[in-house]
Amino acid sequence: MAKIQAIRGMNDILPEQTPVWQFVEATVRKVLGQYGYQEIRMPIVEQTDLFKRSIGEVTDIVEKEMYTFDDRNGDSLTLRPEGTAGCVRAAEEHGLLFNQTRRLWYTGPMFRHERPQKGRYRQFHQIGVECFGMAGPDIDAELLMLTARLWKELGLAEHTRLELNSIGTSEARRVYRDALVEYLSQFKSELDADSQRRLDTNPLRILDSKDPSTRKILENAPVLDAYLDDESREHFDRLRALLDAAGIDYTVNPALVRGLDYYGKTVFEWITDSLGAQGTVCAGGRYDGLVEQLGGKPTRAVGFAMGVERLILLLETLDLIPPHVNNHADVYVTAMGEGAVASALALADELRAALPEATVVSHCGGGSFKSQMKKADKSGAQYAVILGDNEVANGTAGLKPLRSDEQQRELARGDLASALASALNN
Ligand code: ATP
Ligand code: MG
Repeated sequence: MAKIQAIRGMNDILPEQTPVWQFVEATVRKVLGQYGYQEIRMPIVEQTDLFKRSIGEVTDIVEKEMYTFDDRNGDSLTLRPEGTAGCVRAAEEHGLLFNQTRRLWYTGPMFRHERPQKGRYRQFHQIGVECFGMAGPDIDAELLMLTARLWKELGLAEHTRLELNSIGTSEARRVYRDALVEYLSQFKSELDADSQRRLDTNPLRILDSKDPSTRKILENAPVLDAYLDDESREHFDRLRALLDAAGIDYTVNPALVRGLDYYGKTVFEWITDSLGAQGTVCAGGRYDGLVEQLGGKPTRAVGFAMGVERLILLLETLDLIPPHVNNHADVYVTAMGEGAVASALALADELRAALPEATVVSHCGGGSFKSQMKKADKSGAQYAVILGDNEVANGTAGLKPLRSDEQQRELARGDLASALASALNN
């Protein structure tokens, strides 16, 4: 019988890969904790209308990327394609936004039916951050400082650059939209099919088109900047001054619009040039209208989402994964001969109690000295502990360095933990 395989574009994350994931997740968790952000966990499935109403009917996501199905009650449900809508829904539903500010984050899988390729999958993972109740631009700046710190912690600071734009209020965009439609209508037949259709439905999305001939026409299109309202302009100027003061480099990209309808004022993307077309590792902006649009009180909001797969791909491509990340063990305890097994298992547990930060792996499954030492080496451990019948009888253990030229030592069993503690800290 043919074996059943995973769904195209949905990846297994294998044991060899999870250490890198954990490294990225732990780093993000630490940095967000430093800034006082609180984690929220939402369901993966929501009512389809939530996404239609927030992301926008005429967007790539809603038009052609959502995994939507009727459940057994006949309700239309959708696997979340992004986290902002669900986060707003949850925060509203539980009264988290009433008369207060919130700094929230979440992580988890998102689902979009896209053409799978490097850096683009059908199940992928985002780390999302959403801030509520703050008009900015100070909080906009904080978000960008936070991401900049994260790149530094991950060793990616030199490999990411920030692009920034302001897309104004919805009123400003409405006026601009008319000008854009007037201009693009002259070239309608030369636009790609999606853009032709969007001329009537959602012309701003045409700015996002990747089609070369459309891009060429866009070169001379009116720019949004000329239509910015005073409030958005002032917000943007102040944000730029804050970023300058914080020493964060950016370029203003007047063509930057985001693929979701709910953004306004500040939008930004962190881009790397090392991943080809899938170069955006983090994207976000301000969405002051969304909470109200979903039935809540008017609430200012700003956030971003980063693609975990792309971050990991970037770390791998640039060979930036710190060596310790892939080490499975710190100490590998062997048992030479059946008689030593019970004692070795007990010794490993003594070491775990004494060295709570260390990973102590017990050799299980028997085997020769040579095969056990091979496994010890493969585990990445710094030290092997060697326990045979003689050691058990003498109350000792062998301590064998695996990554240096130090000599193997024979220690009293009671001295082993403190010897390892100082050795591992060096
Ligand atoms: P793109 O232009 O690359 O399609 P997007 O604008 O659709 O990205 P967002 O909805 O803003 O992306 O999501 C934020 C981030 O999530 C992206 O910058 C990217 O890092 C990641 N991301 C989005 N879609 C995918 C996907 N299909 N596979 C992997 N990562 C993704
Ligand atoms: Mg997309």
